[in-house]
Parts: sequence; structure tokens; C-alpha cells
Amino acid sequence: MTCKDCEKSIGREQYNASMDSLGVELCERHTRLIKKIILDNNTPLEAIQLFYALKEAGAHPMLEWWDGKKSVDVAISRVKLNIEIDKDYNMITHEQAINDLEEAMHSFKNGFTTIRIPHLAVKYYLEDTVQNILGIITGLKANTKVI
Ligand SMILES: [Zn+2]
Repeated sequence: MTCKDCEKSIGREQYNASMDSLGVELCERHTRLIKKIILDNNTPLEAIQLFYALKEAGAHPMLEWWDGKKSVDVAISRVKLNIEIDKDYNMITHEQAINDLEEAMHSFKNGFTTIRIPHLAVKYYLEDTVQNILGIITGLKANTKVI
């Protein structure tokens, strides 16, 4: 068992502790760091799980990346892709809905692509979610080359 962040080997107890609280195998230090990020940003657990899955897939993601106005759950900066985890579609208010659209417009104007992923996709189809994001990254790379 190894920490998904620093690849330090971890024991059974630490493995269980990190899997129970975060759903990712992490050493004691990284469990603590990630818990602090969650506390500071109200980061959904699915963002943490997606971040480490993308990291493992070689996508070089960044967690809670500050775009100058707000913190983005997960970002792939070399293709200017922002990924937000949607916590619950049923909980969304009409103000939130139009704010999301306006935010998407602003980031699009600045050359960023924002995608919203329902937390359920990450929870139940992590592998498929990662594959789709890798496809989006490839598509964005292809588009940037043309320009
Ligand atoms: Zn670690």
C-alpha cells in the first residue's frame, strides 16, 4: 500500500484511515493536508478522488486552483480546463443556475473551458469519468494547435 501522492509506503491502519475518511490511499501527512484543503475550501470528496485518479492517469491536475476570482475544484492548466464537481442537482436554486452560466461565460471569454461533473458520475463511474476527461484534454490540445 502506497500513498497516492508521495508514493511513500503506508501500513494497513493508515490505509484504512485514509480510505474511510477520503476514499483515497494517502500517508498520514497527505491525509492531513487534504483534510485542511477540504476545510478551507469546502472541497467535495469526489473532487479529491477525481484529482488523484487524473494524477494517476498522467493528466497533471491541480486541486483547488485559484483562477483569480474563485477556487476551481480541479484544473488542468496546460489546456485551461476547469472542472467543477456538482454536489446535488436537486439542491440548485435559480440564482445558482444563472450564476453558474455567467461564470462559465466569463471563463470561456478568458480562454478557459469549464465542465461540471455530477458527483454521482465520479462516485459510481470514476474510470469512465477519467477517460472522458482525458478525451476532452486531447480535444482541447488539438484545438489549441490549430490556433
Ligand atoms: Zn504522502
